[in-house]
Amino acid sequence: MEETRKLSVAKRIALVAHDHKKKELIEWAEYNRNMLASHKLFATGTTGKLLQEKLNLPVTKLFSGPLGGDQQIGAMIAEGEIDLIVFFWDPMEAQPHDSDVKALLRLAVAWNILMACNRTTADYILKSSLMDEDYTITIPDYSSYLTRPV
Ligand code: PGA
Repeated sequence: MEETRKLSVAKRIALVAHDHKKKELIEWAEYNRNMLASHKLFATGTTGKLLQEKLNLPVTKLFSGPLGGDQQIGAMIAEGEIDLIVFFWDPMEAQPHDSDVKALLRLAVAWNILMACNRTTADYILKSSLMDEDYTITIPDYSSYLTRPV
């Protein structure tokens, strides 16, 4: 049987930005502050500190990305604890934790959660009428990948 998960109207949102993208994420978050205020916010360490200062909203801060913050968010996605990730990763600069970045992007797709990696997509997601409804996501069935029955 297909596995599903309900996204409620108040979402758990993870926010992450690489150093050269932090300004853009903060601007976007300030512009959308009132909307973000009705959701529960999580962020990697430095991004979270900046967001908390600028938005004056509670933000659960995880480790800084290079020290394991991306992996913490990845684990939360796998545990069904994150509904939307806004991840402004830097397409112009290699990161010391590129492997963690890749893993995080992979898990967001693997678990079929909402993900915005640039401002345009983030705007479209926040403005979607689906944001104001309960929505059921399908958890993809990967059982055909397994070589032995579970
Ligand atoms: P930071 O981490 O918010 O602690 O800078 C972001 C990242 O590099 O993944």
